Amino acid sequence: MSRKAEQIVDDLRDFIVPSYPDIEIRVRPWEEDERRLAIYFTDTKFASLYPYQRWHYLTHLIPSEYQEQYLETTVWFELAPGESPADLSYPDEELISDITPDVMRILKAIGFFRKLDDIMCPHKKTAERGRCWGDFRNSRPLLLSSGITESELFDVFHVLMLQGGFCDCEILYNAVEESRLKAEYWTARAEGIEPHDPHRKT
Ligand SMILES: [Zn+2]
Repeated sequence: MSRKAEQIVDDLRDFIVPSYPDIEIRVRPWEEDERRLAIYFTDTKFASLYPYQRWHYLTHLIPSEYQEQYLETTVWFELAPGESPADLSYPDEELISDITPDVMRILKAIGFFRKLDDIMCPHKKTAERGRCWGDFRNSRPLLLSSGITESELFDVFHVLMLQGGFCDCEILYNAVEESRLKAEYWTARAEGIEPHDPHRKT
């Protein structure tokens, strides 16, 4: 079933604008294959995110039935202002899955998960907790100060994302077996208390 480009833009705006009020969405035939539509999403909030993270956030805002029905053959480009599709690098999922065990071993050895947990969920209850901004603002400097180089960050973060760690707090919830942040979450749930939300300002 096909749907007109303008109609798709309107639909997508309905899904996405509540979370990304300033997003710019353009839909037109894809240069490499005119039978397919290319969708260009541009937002300043994307500047601090990897394209794979941007895609992750967008795809969660668009109902899967809609994607299956109208977007199956479309090609997406998630851009920060000033970027072009050639600037986007996506992970090679097979390669990332191959390097995952080694990367995880290194991250454990350098104490990365423990240090991140210390920030997001400090031992001392009175200590100030780190906030998660839906990106890797806390993890990045930790990795760089623990011996991971700038050029290794892409692989490291994609290893974490493919395990469900799309932001600082999700690394501790999804990419590691144990963390204080995760334990605290489930303790609160078991006690019927609203768990602390790292994305909310405290
Ligand atoms: Zn988070």
